[in-house]
Amino acid sequence: MRKKRIATASLAGCFGCHMSLLDIDERIIDLMKVAEFDRSPLNDFKKFTRRCDIGLIEGGCCNEDNVHVLREFRKNCDVLVAVGQCAIMGGLPVMRNAIMHSEDPLRECLDEAYKASPKVMNPENQIPNDPALPLLLDKVYTLVDVVKVDYQIPGCPPSGDVLWTALSALIKGEPPELDWALIKYD
Ligand code: SF4
Repeated sequence: MRKKRIATASLAGCFGCHMSLLDIDERIIDLMKVAEFDRSPLNDFKKFTRRCDIGLIEGGCCNEDNVHVLREFRKNCDVLVAVGQCAIMGGLPVMRNAIMHSEDPLRECLDEAYKASPKVMNPENQIPNDPALPLLLDKVYTLVDVVKVDYQIPGCPPSGDVLWTALSALIKGEPPELDWALIKYD
């Protein structure tokens, strides 16, 4: 039986969910017996080399690049999984959606982040505007706002045990069954 191919990406996330994947510790040896990583920050593959069985995405979409990567994953992965609260609900970045009622919410958000906040040191009073920077979206979108998602794995981050349980099932072609005790975080 061929190894399952897994791709991963971090969109508007903090890489904590990726770090948690490494928390499976020595079980990564078992994982590597039945699976291999394709496009992923874990191996620094920037592009898909072929179609993948499983795509794991942490983080939601806050800019055009996030949307592009997410659509690429949907196109190239048989099963797409939203990993962690940022991918499922938006996480911390989605707090900027709270000022949507403002006349110019994006401007207000950038002004607060780069100029107005008492903790900001910005003598030139500049907001980053390099053309290489991806265009910010009007608000933060969750994965299901943009593409069809097959499964969601909750947690901030989901623990290594949760990720191991979910991945083990997905590799066998089964839906992940996560016991309540495993995903109870309080
Ligand atoms: Fe980081 Fe938590 Fe978001 Fe995962 S869910 S990317 S750990 S903030």
